[in-house]
Amino acid sequence: MQNRKKVIIVGAGVAGIASAIELAESGIEVHIIESRSFIGGRMYSFQDDSTGEWLDNGQHIMIGAYENFFRILKTLGTSDLIRCQKKLSVPFIDIDGIKSNFSSVLFPGMPGLVFGFLRMKEVVFKSRINAIKLLKKIIVNKIEIADKTVKNVLKENNQRDDIIKRFWEPLSLAVLNSPPELVSAKLLTEVLKKATSKGNFSACLCFPKVPLSELIEPFKSWLELKGGKILYRTPVDKILIENHNASVLLINGEHIEADAIISCVPHHVLIRMLPGNLKNHNIFQALNLFNYSAIISIYLWLNKEIIQIPFMGMLGTTTQWIFNKRILCRADEKAEKEYLPHYALTISGAYDLTEISSENIAQKCFSEIKKSFNFSDDLILLNWKVIKEKRATFIASPEIESLRLKSTTPVKNFFLGGDWTDTGLPATLEGAALSGYKAAKKAIEFLNNGISS
Ligand SMILES: Cc1cc2nc3c(=O)[nH]c(=O)nc-3n(C[C@H](O)[C@H](O)[C@H](O)COP(=O)(O)OP(=O)(O)OC[C@H]3O[C@@H](n4cnc5c(N)ncnc54)[C@H](O)[C@@H]3O)c2cc1C
Repeated sequence: MQNRKKVIIVGAGVAGIASAIELAESGIEVHIIESRSFIGGRMYSFQDDSTGEWLDNGQHIMIGAYENFFRILKTLGTSDLIRCQKKLSVPFIDIDGIKSNFSSVLFPGMPGLVFGFLRMKEVVFKSRINAIKLLKKIIVNKIEIADKTVKNVLKENNQRDDIIKRFWEPLSLAVLNSPPELVSAKLLTEVLKKATSKGNFSACLCFPKVPLSELIEPFKSWLELKGGKILYRTPVDKILIENHNASVLLINGEHIEADAIISCVPHHVLIRMLPGNLKNHNIFQALNLFNYSAIISIYLWLNKEIIQIPFMGMLGTTTQWIFNKRILCRADEKAEKEYLPHYALTISGAYDLTEISSENIAQKCFSEIKKSFNFSDDLILLNWKVIKEKRATFIASPEIESLRLKSTTPVKNFFLGGDWTDTGLPATLEGAALSGYKAAKKAIEFLNNGISS
């Protein structure tokens, strides 16, 4: 144990956890420095004061193709806390109460999605055929997407308004947290390729059965068993660079050195931490161009059930998704008795809404639910909670996509992870996990060979 290499990871979100797992499994001593009193970063749960229930900072959905995120859960023994569909099925309702379902129930992979399009009776036949043609071009790499937004690619490939509203726009918001006119087509096509890559399971939606923090709860003891530790409530102030070597300065003035440092903090935090000579380096200057997109989560406790299924997409409304928490997630028994039906609503790409009062947002969403599901005044809102995550994910525009940073830096023992780094994936749990593993692999390469490439 005496000559073990030591690596410091800054930030215990999903990227930091993935990095720590890779390093610790390679016999390296890992210390994670985390500013908050809990791990998980942008994926966490907390106990709600008024209902006593455990709520998530936002409903998180995964797909079967999330291999890197699921590797974390497998390592921690929490895979069975995730429930996955057996076949992709996405029910929708629109503001006039018209229901539809995008499903691949008969066939796996690409044929399943083709079947899903063919069954979309709400859009004209021509739109369905054009969508199938575009999907095929994406999957066989026969499409020119470099530097284009999703909207440009849709336009160039004759996608009509009806299918954009019912398929491409909800997909863009769900996957990239931004509407088609803002985001890189490259990322959306990457996700579609992954979702059709391994038969049935890849595209299936998966949901946590427990509050989010429980998925990673065993991490602390897992890491300690490997000889590592987490330093909670320990904000890092600066990354120091001396003789081309990185070390860490804490807010409390303590200076910590290690064989390598991996930053897994969001990009706006990293800019603050960098010393002047690195901040002015071209690659880090690019970070000033990154912007964020918000996600708003609305929890509604009602006097009666609205849907008997786990979730639905909503079309033509500000609310984009409704999740039945009593079906999806184990609930606190006491809270359940007091507040029976409990729903989580999601609004992605919620740029315009963040300055609107939480009460107005909750009331607006409640009115939309009443109208879409055709309820009158006998549907009563017993309680609500609105969580605004203003910096939920970076906006993956084509320009920013080309500026995302690699895991290695100009400083040989300093590495980067985080969902905003260059993973080729959107800012998701899967992207964060992949970035963490990648950064750790580069750090291990450096520790073994003395070079970082
Ligand atoms: C509301 C919401 C809904 C989402 N829904 C989905 C979804 O459905 N599916 C999906 O795949 N993804 C979803 N995401 C995205 C996903 O949560 C993120 O992509 C992922 O969690 C990012 O992980 P990360 O490790 O890169 O960064 P973070 O989670 O931000 O981790 C960074 C860590 O660094 C710590 N830190 C910050 N500053 C310091 C400092 N000075 N010193 C020490 N530590 C510091 C932070 O406290 C944090 O723990 C959602 C995100 C939000 C906010």
